[in-house]
Amino acid sequence: MHRRKHSDFDSAISEIKAIYEELGHRPIERNCTLKTECCHFLLTGKTPFLTKGEALVAAKGLRATGRKELPSRADGACKLLHRVTARCMIYNNRPFACRTHFCEAAGGPYARKEVIDLIHRLEEIDRALEGNGAREIHDALESIF
Ligand code: SF4
Repeated sequence: MHRRKHSDFDSAISEIKAIYEELGHRPIERNCTLKTECCHFLLTGKTPFLTKGEALVAAKGLRATGRKELPSRADGACKLLHRVTARCMIYNNRPFACRTHFCEAAGGPYARKEVIDLIHRLEEIDRALEGNGAREIHDALESIF
């Protein structure tokens, strides 16, 4: 297996961001008010899964906050949820699942058919990066750091 070049990662990151932007322009009514209920995995029983490209974007977002590793957290909440501010540390770079999944307060999960084309693009980028499909958020990030 050959090593991926930085340019591969850079172009994957741009493509993923374009997908997030496109999602934001879809006329699907949702209203994330940063309540962060969905970031408490033990409470919701659900955890977001990330493709490799999404993990690259999330990791880059986390590094931009000055962190060199995934913060530790043992209460079952997302490690990217800030302990003091209770805000997502990478909100603008948060994964696709955090934008579309299970938050009832924001209007509930998107129907798969509303975003299936975008999911296919995420999967395509994952294959191009020799990822292994979507992985649990902390696993996916630990494999990058
Ligand atoms: S990445 Fe951010 S929005 Fe997603 S679960 Fe973690 S803290 Fe919440």
